[in-house]
Amino acid sequence: MNHNEDPAIVASALTRRFGEVTAVSELTLEVLPGEVFGFLGHNGAGKTTTVRLLNGVLAADGGTARVLGLDPWQNGPALRGHTGILTETPSLDERLTGRENLQIYAELYGVPPAELSQRVEELLEAFELAHRGDEKAGGYSRGMKQRLALARALLHKPRLLFLDEPTAGLDPVATRRVHGLITRLSREERRTVFLCTHNLAEAQKLCDRVAVLEHGCLVALGTPVELANRMGHRQRLEIEVAPEGLAATLDILRSIPGITELQQDNGSLTIVGAGREVIPGLVASLVAAGVRIYRVSPREPSLEDVYFALHDVEEGS
Ligand code: ATP
Repeated sequence: MNHNEDPAIVASALTRRFGEVTAVSELTLEVLPGEVFGFLGHNGAGKTTTVRLLNGVLAADGGTARVLGLDPWQNGPALRGHTGILTETPSLDERLTGRENLQIYAELYGVPPAELSQRVEELLEAFELAHRGDEKAGGYSRGMKQRLALARALLHKPRLLFLDEPTAGLDPVATRRVHGLITRLSREERRTVFLCTHNLAEAQKLCDRVAVLEHGCLVALGTPVELANRMGHRQRLEIEVAPEGLAATLDILRSIPGITELQQDNGSLTIVGAGREVIPGLVASLVAAGVRIYRVSPREPSLEDVYFALHDVEEGS
C-alpha cells in the first residue's frame, strides 16, 4: 500500500436502483493502490452491482467514480484494459484446453502476438496448471478451473483486480493456494485487489481494510483490527484454575472493573468486557491468593464478531 499515490478507486455517493430496489446507495469509499480491499456483505447486499458500476459495465443513477484515474462510464473500454475481473461463476470454454482458453483471451485482451505465448506459459506455470495445460478445461477440478479463471483475469497484467468470491466452493488446500496468489499479487506485484467475499476469516487474513455493505449502504469501513477494536466490549478472557481455588478466583474476577458478564463452566471461567490488559494484575492477585492457575487466555474480537454485531445477528443463529 502506498498512501502517497492517487487512489485506485474513488467512489462518491454512488447509487444504483433496479426498480424499487436500491442495490447500491450513496456509496462513498477510496481504495489505495496495492491494497487488498475486502468488500463484505450478505447475499444481495450490492457487492456485484458495485463491481459492475466501478468497471463501467453498468450505469449509475447517481454519484461519481474515478477508477485508475478514469471515469468508468466515459472511458469504460480504456479502463477495462487495466482491470481484471473474476466473476462469481467464471465461464470457461470447457471444450478447449486450459492453454487454449488463455490463448483466446490473450488475443481478445490485445496481448501483442510476440508476447502472447510466453505470457500464457508464465501464467500456466504460476498457477500450477502447466502440466495439465493440454487437457480440456471441462475435465479440470473446481480448484483448477478457479485458478485458470484467475490466470485469465491476469493475462493483460491489470493494475486492479476485482475478485468476486474467489474461493467459493474450494477445498482448504485450493483455498490456501488462491489466498497465496492474492497476497503475492498485492505484496510482490503491487496490484490492487478489490475482494468481494462472505468469508470473514478470508477477509481477516487477506485484507488491509474492509468495508461492510448492508442493503446497498456502507455500514463499516476500516482495518480488520480497527473494526475489531470498536467491539472492545466484547473482549473475553478465559481462565482455568484448580478446583480448590475457584471461590477465591470468582471473588477476584468480580472485582475487575468493566466486566459485563462472568460465565462458569466446570473449572473454566469466562469474563466478558476485559482483555489482555488485565492479565498481569489478575495473575498476580491469583498467585497471591494461592490459586493454582492452569490457563488464562484472551479471546480478541474477530471480524466475525464485528460482522454479527453490525448485522444484529447472534453468532450461530
Ligand atoms: P451475492 O452475494 O448474492 O452475489 P451481492 O451483494 O453481489 O449478492 P447484488 O448482486 O449486487 O448483491 O444485488 C443487490 C440487489 O440488486 C439485489 O436485491 C438484487 O436482486 C438486485 N439486482 C442486482 N442486479 C439486478 C438486475 N440486473 N436486475 C434487477 N435487480 C438486480
